Amino acid sequence: MTEHKRSILIVGAGIAGLAAARALALRGADVTVLEQAVEIAEIGAGLQVSPNGLAVLAGLGLDQALRDTGAVLAEGIALRNSAGRLVTRLELSGPQGAGDYLLVHRADLIAVLAEGARAAGARIRPLHLVARIEPGATPSIVTHQGTTLTADLVLAADGIHSSLAATLNPGSAPRFTGHVAWRATVPEEAKDRDREKANAGDRNVQIFMGAGRHLVTYPLRGGTLRNIVAVEERATWVPESWSHTDDPANLRRAFSGMGPQVRALTNRVTQTHLWGLFRHPVATRWSGERVVLLGDAAHPTLPFMGQGANMALEDAWVLADALYREGNMATALARYQTLRHRRVVRAVRTANGNAWKYHLRRPFSDVAHLGLRVLGATAPGLLTNGFDWLYNHDVTQGSRLVEG
Ligand SMILES: Cc1cc2nc3c(=O)[nH]c(=O)nc-3n(C[C@H](O)[C@H](O)[C@H](O)COP(=O)(O)OP(=O)(O)OC[C@H]3O[C@@H](n4cnc5c(N)ncnc54)[C@H](O)[C@@H]3O)c2cc1C
Repeated sequence: MTEHKRSILIVGAGIAGLAAARALALRGADVTVLEQAVEIAEIGAGLQVSPNGLAVLAGLGLDQALRDTGAVLAEGIALRNSAGRLVTRLELSGPQGAGDYLLVHRADLIAVLAEGARAAGARIRPLHLVARIEPGATPSIVTHQGTTLTADLVLAADGIHSSLAATLNPGSAPRFTGHVAWRATVPEEAKDRDREKANAGDRNVQIFMGAGRHLVTYPLRGGTLRNIVAVEERATWVPESWSHTDDPANLRRAFSGMGPQVRALTNRVTQTHLWGLFRHPVATRWSGERVVLLGDAAHPTLPFMGQGANMALEDAWVLADALYREGNMATALARYQTLRHRRVVRAVRTANGNAWKYHLRRPFSDVAHLGLRVLGATAPGLLTNGFDWLYNHDVTQGSRLVEG
């Protein structure tokens, strides 16, 4: 069945919303995206786009556009102890192709998706803060400006604080994990600036593991920028938000006990955002009458597997595909949840279980690091193959809506 001018309103011009907008518009739907922000801006920092997410971008014909933004092709993950000594290294990308693992700036991914959505005919309306989504035979959206809009279907891709998620899943409350995360980018030092060097030199995700904290860093934009995510265990919390800034001195203080590489990095930070990391249950109900959740709205994910954006991309593809294949909308929405729920729960649980592994204290950290070192030297495949279910999963099954 073709999406002949089915009208679709999408709340949120984030990763899920824009990917769904392109997928649905390419299939003939009449799509409008409402975004609260003034513009779809430079919010966020680095993201790791793993092969499963890249497969969706390829299906949407946008993988080359993303590579062209200066996305760095990651080679591996170097696990280091707090002093900076290499514990082990995991291989990531194979030969150039679908199995690639890219390091990108969130703003670049958003720009590529937005351009792709517009090119497919979708309209994107900034400055539209949605107050309410009302399910029904003709579902509607009420904006804070008092405008009511109706459509055949409403997609809530409005992120972690989704109002529709709360309506469909009352009583489902997030719990503070006892972790906060600073996110920052710093310009790369002059000696590393040339792109060739960045792509020949440091193409690893570096993870420094300390007691009760870890720091992840990798190059962005052809090596001209470096991303930093620094996680610390703490009793008190800060709001979950893209816009909560913090004094870089707090980041420096939290990581002052780590080795010279980490201290040199944190010393270069001039601006940083701080996130409180919360564990949210995956929504049990993803859709109501002609309304549906996707991305973080359905399943906010801790960043310890770098999968939130990748799962959002997968959702967008699977939802558009279900709507395209199934004439009855209620059946299509139910099928979408069935296809996604198990996989998403597994990814969320894996991320939930990951933080403590990086944060071990001595002597446990010495034992664990020794084990990793031995395994990395003797059977490196065992360390990476465990994630085949995640990275080698292609929801598009190789299909292309358009060639990139
Ligand atoms: C520290 C950290 C590191 C991370 N690292 C990675 C990583 O390496 N790889 C990865 O895959 N993921 C990562 N993530 C997760 C990833 O950023 C999110 O999972 C992803 O952005 C979810 O996409 P989304 O489209 O569902 O939501 P969002 O990207 O949050 O987009 C939601 C959009 O909806 C808009 N909106 C919200 N409410 C309204 C409203 N009422 N009206 C109109 N518009 C509204 C917002 O302005 C926003 O544009 C990380 C997250 C954190 C916190």
